[in-house]
Amino acid sequence: MNIILLGAPGGGKGTQSEFLCEKNGFVQLSTGDLFRSNIMNKTSLGTEAQKYMDQGLYVPDTITNGMVQEFLKTKSDGLIFDGYPRTAEQASALDEMLEALQGSIDKVIYFEIDAAILMDRLTGRLICQTCKRSYHIKNRPPLVEGVCDYDHSRLIVRPDDAPDKVRTRLMVYQEQTAPLVDFYKDKLIKIDANNKTPVELYQDLVKVLAI
Ligand code: ADP
Repeated sequence: MNIILLGAPGGGKGTQSEFLCEKNGFVQLSTGDLFRSNIMNKTSLGTEAQKYMDQGLYVPDTITNGMVQEFLKTKSDGLIFDGYPRTAEQASALDEMLEALQGSIDKVIYFEIDAAILMDRLTGRLICQTCKRSYHIKNRPPLVEGVCDYDHSRLIVRPDDAPDKVRTRLMVYQEQTAPLVDFYKDKLIKIDANNKTPVELYQDLVKVLAI
């Protein structure tokens, strides 16, 4: 089974994919994480992607689709798509790539959440440099300040979580990604993500996915 997690940045996609991977054996395909690891390893793809990411803009579809195609060569089932697809062109490309591998998207989960909550979540977010787990200064602080609970690596603030970049990201999301709700209307399951803890949200997910 392949699942897409759809929703605005800060809506909880990353945390829920962590849970689904740890507890239900899925593998996460996060284009954001793949870009960030390319940046860290100083690959040419990373250098190109960083120009867009640092501004809060989307990386061009050809680059993003190419990277996903490479990933799908290694695995094309049991995946959680987190942050991909984000444009109509990516959604069509994904359908074609999966079809060529006799795969498909089974369910699309759409997290609904208010814009004001998103702003607060993103601008207070901390990320583990190594395992990519996310924390929040107020809502989900680490046990020791600035240090990951799991692997004790340093927690960092993502450059695109600066308030002006967050505003751009939310705008780009509305323009380019929100319309995918219509593209996936036959497979879409909406979940209200307002005022829910990550664990409560996960419980909702398990129910609707029947896993
Ligand atoms: P978030 O969902 O919190 O915004 P991600 O880690 O998924 O964060 O993505 C961070 C950035 O990486 C995006 O703002 C964008 O620049 C780039 N990116 C990630 N996924 C895609 C994608 N599917 N298409 C284009 N750009 C992407």
